Amino acid sequence: MTVSSPTHPEESDHPTTPIPLPVPASVPASGDRRRHPAPAHLRFFHGPMDCGKSTLALQVDHNQRRQGRHGLLLTQGDRSSAPQISSRVGLSRDAVEVDAGADLRLLVRDRWADGHRVDYLIVDEAQFLTSAQVDQLADLVDDWHVDVYAFGLTTDFRTRLFPGTQRLLEVADDVQRVQVEVLCWCGLPGLLNARVVAGVMVRSGETVVVADTAPADPPGAEDGSLSPTVRYQVLCRRHYVRGELGPTAAGPGQLSLP
Ligand SMILES: [Zn+2]
Repeated sequence: MTVSSPTHPEESDHPTTPIPLPVPASVPASGDRRRHPAPAHLRFFHGPMDCGKSTLALQVDHNQRRQGRHGLLLTQGDRSSAPQISSRVGLSRDAVEVDAGADLRLLVRDRWADGHRVDYLIVDEAQFLTSAQVDQLADLVDDWHVDVYAFGLTTDFRTRLFPGTQRLLEVADDVQRVQVEVLCWCGLPGLLNARVVAGVMVRSGETVVVADTAPADPPGAEDGSLSPTVRYQVLCRRHYVRGELGPTAAGPGQLSLP
């Protein structure tokens, strides 16, 4: 394979004589803009389950607080039943639980009215936001200079973008894929969230069924709130397409290892 150099000086269209730089004006043309604070940003971090999003959310919050900034943490349907952002590595912080009807701008305004500073928002489980709520986050960034850090799953168990995720991908200033050592059972990077009902991978059903990602409990150990047993498992694309849950899954024709 041959690779040609991208730059050929002789092909340049630029004149050889340098263009004189404009003399800096003593009065800035856009002086009014200087009175505004530094622009805020809407940042979105997304990935599959177990990729470390909640841990990263808490780390960002920690870093911001160390700089003397004040934040508000929001979540929806966190894996712990109490309203907090919790990560599987054992960290947690109290958070405000929001539902689909909440106006996030009013939420922040109410905090201000109560005398609290809100310099930034941490939004975990952002895949569950409505499209309108994501637009409210953008308003907070643009009109009120609140920095927003949103964390969420990329796709649901059918490999389709969650509504909140889709809107964030459309309007966020900065989008990063988070991938912290979440592997399919085969060792390849895990990308997709499979829903497993009673040991069998399913591809249709409600978009949102909150469950944990721990291996399924033995039959009968569930409290009955999610019946039959629903769990999620991260798979690589190939094994998602094939519906293969790996040798430890107790599927038909597969060994169930201890
Ligand atoms: Zn795999």
